Amino acid sequence: MGDLLIPDFEIRDLILEYGSKEALKCYQCGMCAALCPWYQVDGVDFLVYQLAQNIKLGAVLNSEDKDVIAHEVTELYRCVGCDACYDQCPRGLNIADMLRAVRRIMVESESVPGPLRTTISSLYSNGNPLSQPPEKRTDWAKDLDLPAFQPEMEYAWFTCCTVDYDPRCQKIAQATAEILKRAGVSFGILGNEQSCCGEAIRKAGAEKAFKQVAESNIKLFEKTGAKKLLTTSPHCLNSFKKDYPELDGNCQVIHMTQLFARLIEQGEITPKKELNKRVVYHDPCTLGRQNNIYEEPRQVLKNIPGLELVEIPEFNHENSVCCGGGSGGLWLEWPKGERLADVRAKQAADTGAQILAVACPYCLTMFEDSVKTMNLDIQVLDVAELLAESLEP
Ligand code: SF4
Ligand code: SF4
Repeated sequence: MGDLLIPDFEIRDLILEYGSKEALKCYQCGMCAALCPWYQVDGVDFLVYQLAQNIKLGAVLNSEDKDVIAHEVTELYRCVGCDACYDQCPRGLNIADMLRAVRRIMVESESVPGPLRTTISSLYSNGNPLSQPPEKRTDWAKDLDLPAFQPEMEYAWFTCCTVDYDPRCQKIAQATAEILKRAGVSFGILGNEQSCCGEAIRKAGAEKAFKQVAESNIKLFEKTGAKKLLTTSPHCLNSFKKDYPELDGNCQVIHMTQLFARLIEQGEITPKKELNKRVVYHDPCTLGRQNNIYEEPRQVLKNIPGLELVEIPEFNHENSVCCGGGSGGLWLEWPKGERLADVRAKQAADTGAQILAVACPYCLTMFEDSVKTMNLDIQVLDVAELLAESLEP
């Protein structure tokens, strides 16, 4: 009998206690495997349907062989929390939630991949995952004359760490600021006291780091009087809707594409400049499958003159394939040939579109990398960037 078959019921019970009791209901039908994006990556054998069974049998993290554990740790971080399996499971079991419980033990025992260790540590010391100084969070907005949020304003714009610090993603913020100002939206930014929403780090198992940043944000919302949040990232939206209420953080929240679609519909902004390009839209898992926001980003794109919107055959809307950036995937490194973003970027390029439109800074980051390394002839742009361009001059 190999090392992995020695049951460890102590770890099994801790995994169940940390929130994966649902694993006991799994009857091994294997349906969850059908849409797991890893099955589209040649040479990767990620046996998702076995996870619940292994938890039940005490066969997770139960080896004493360091190499076996190291391999298992890597494999347990493959799941990107895209919820494609959740949609398929006849018993309504959520594999990503089960894995969150397993990963919590891995974080507590410091058995996580190296890059993730750095990310978690930066969350504690900087309030962001990018090892950046908090006082530089709003540097991107210095020349834009953006107001700080005041209680009489309608929206507090929660910008996202990737957007605040990553030079490429800052362009999404600049485009968004331009649109909001042109439409006369009543909004303000939350400033340098904003912390990471914590969504991805929680899915990666760092429960304590999540609580620290979430509690800090909830205090900031209370201090500033923010009640309606506007998010650039679907991950922030998801966390405010589903995680923060557990900590008594109860703000309303909408995604930026929802507001853009409404502003166009109400005639507050009118895209006029013809872009004359073929565009394919990628549904971010966290916006589409997890929050049912499929049509608003498409409505924005359809209203831009000259843009021809096409779909990735078969894998669009609820069947979208993850970019690989969720649940900590953004901070992990996979060898070439084992990247979900490569699979997805190729699907997009195969449509013949010149533009791959996204509505999530994680997707943008993952796809830009794939487009460069695979030398694909497609440009990755956020919906906000396309909309801002069509408003000019
Ligand atoms: S959440 Fe997504 S990546 Fe994770 S096991 Fe399910 S389908 Fe696979
Ligand atoms: S689909 Fe659900 S019940 Fe079937 S193997 Fe997967 S987790 Fe278990």
